[in-house]
Formats: sequence, structure tokens, C-alpha cells
Amino acid sequence: MSVEFTDVTKRFGDHTVLDHLDFTVKAGSHVTLIGPSGSGKTTILRMLMTLTKPDSGTITVDGDQLFPAPEKQVREVRKKIGMVFQQFNLFPNMSVLRNLTEAPVTVLGLSKDEAEERARELLEMVGLTDKADAKPSRLSGGQQQRVAIARALAMRPQFLLLDEVTSALDPELVAGALDVLRDIARGTDITMLCVTHEMNFARDISDQVLMFDAGRIVESGPPEKIFNDPEEERTREFLSAVL
Ligand code: ADP
Repeated sequence: MSVEFTDVTKRFGDHTVLDHLDFTVKAGSHVTLIGPSGSGKTTILRMLMTLTKPDSGTITVDGDQLFPAPEKQVREVRKKIGMVFQQFNLFPNMSVLRNLTEAPVTVLGLSKDEAEERARELLEMVGLTDKADAKPSRLSGGQQQRVAIARALAMRPQFLLLDEVTSALDPELVAGALDVLRDIARGTDITMLCVTHEMNFARDISDQVLMFDAGRIVESGPPEKIFNDPEEERTREFLSAVL
């Protein structure tokens, strides 16, 4: 599933958060957004989730316009997009299994049996088969994040948005969550757009890295280029501060 931003601008008051932004995510590719805090990365993911609208410009998903577009078209496009948040946002009063079956049953119209079969496969994939009946609060942060990833996949998205998914995890739990995401990146054809502070992860899974600063793309390219031989001083500065 491909995504194209054309001349997208977003302001909050007199603060320009995205400044005439153009970029494309090719179908099946894995693109990572890096850059300092406040540079506009999360706003891009929120636009794709239709939680925020641009002030101007166009966004298309597989050639269908997501903005500007009629509400019905937006809903259709939205169904193909899954998101995993920094704070896992699991339903606290439902079991892990039910967290994974709820939306597939109510939104996609799967039968309960179909949804449960799929949910158990996904729990196996993220290594949590034995937690199906537990409430999320009984799990570690890393386990909760793996449930959140499985829950996003249960909706069979063609496009997965990941917003700093390891930032809220204790350091020793980060690796497990990243391993699951690596498996998804390698084992599926889901297009991925990630915001991350994990530069090794970005290097490992990305086809393309976009370096942001103040609502603009400073530099973009394959990870070998951006991390080993960046063109721009701003990129070098940022990488030397975080690596
Ligand atoms: P990043 O993900 O790169 O840290 P964000 O996209 O979260 O950056 O934010 C970019 C800028 O937009 C920040 O300065 C942030 O304060 C501002 N911003 C984001 N959402 C809102 C909002 N709802 N109202 C006002 N300012 C916002």
C-alpha cells in the first residue's frame, strides 16, 4: 500500500508544524522517520490515522485521496491502516484474547470463531500464547506492547504505523518488542511507517530513512547512507547526539 504526501502544511496557531511537505512511501516498503522532538513526525502518523487534518496539500493512499476526501472514502482507506502507539492503549477490562477479537468481530464482521483462531495465531507469533485469558494489567510493559502489535495485526492492515513503540518500555524489554517488529517487517508485505528513537532498529528494518527538522525533511535515503555518510550537517548533529 503506497502513501503520498504532496505539499502538506499544518499549523497550530502561528507555529508551522509541517512545512510544504512532499514524500512517498512505496507499497511494501519500510520507512522510518527520525529527527528531534517536535519536528512533526508524530503529526504525520496522526494525519494518516485521520486524527489530525492538514491545513493544505493532499494525502493519497494507494491513489485514493485521504485528504481532502468525503467521509465515506476516508473510512474505507482508514480500515487498511493499523497503528501501534507509545502507550499501548489496550482495553483494560478485556482479556488479551478479547482485545484481539473485539474489532475484527465488530468492524470487519468476522465470526467469533474466525477472530479467535486468528487471535491465537497472532499471540503465538508474539510469544504470548499462555496469556490469552489474562487481563492486560497482569502483563509487563513489553508483553502489553506485543499484545498491542498483535491487536493492530488482527485487523489485517496493509499499512502499519508505529509511533515510538518502545519509548515507554523498560530498557530490558525493548529488544523483545523490536524482535517482533523485525519479524513482521521481514515476514509480511505490510507497508510500515515508523517513528523511532531506536537508531539500530531503524538501520535494521528500513528501506528508507527520512530525517526531519522543524517540519521539513532535511535529508532522506537508505539507512546505510543516512547513518554512515549523511550529507547534511543537521543530520550529523542529530545522529551524534543520539548514537
Ligand atoms: P515529533 O513527533 O517530531 O516529536 P510532533 O508531530 O509531535 O513532533 O509535534 C510537532 C509540533 O507540533 C510540536 O511543537 C508540538 O508541540 C506541536 N503540536 C502537536 N500537536 C499539537 C496540538 N494538538 N496543538 C498544538 N500544538 C501541537
